[in-house]
Amino acid sequence: MNPGSDIGFEDRMATVEFRVADRPHITVDREVCRSCTTKACVHVCPAGLFVPTADGGILFNYEQCFECGTCYMVCNEAGAITWSYPEGGQGVVMRRS
Ligand code: SF4
Ligand code: SF4
Repeated sequence: MNPGSDIGFEDRMATVEFRVADRPHITVDREVCRSCTTKACVHVCPAGLFVPTADGGILFNYEQCFECGTCYMVCNEAGAITWSYPEGGQGVVMRRS
């Protein structure tokens, strides 16, 4: 049995801190996204940071990103996502509970 399996989502999130950088480490080209038929990023982002808009585009907020890289892996449109790590000391901080 996984020793951490009895820890709930809320408890896990209590161990996560986001040190928001001024410079976004992920940028999304909304014009490219308009022609995307899958909007895969919306479904895979564990933080729910991609939100489809009524005009076929995407709204994105980098501030609570886990830096998992999943959106970059699944994106099917070249150039839609530009991804880099935040500068040292910034971004997500996961602590042991
Ligand atoms: S999967 Fe890529 S191209 Fe499609 S909406 Fe998401 S970021 Fe844009
Ligand atoms: S790196 Fe992970 S948490 Fe951050 S926006 Fe992409 S899918 Fe979401």
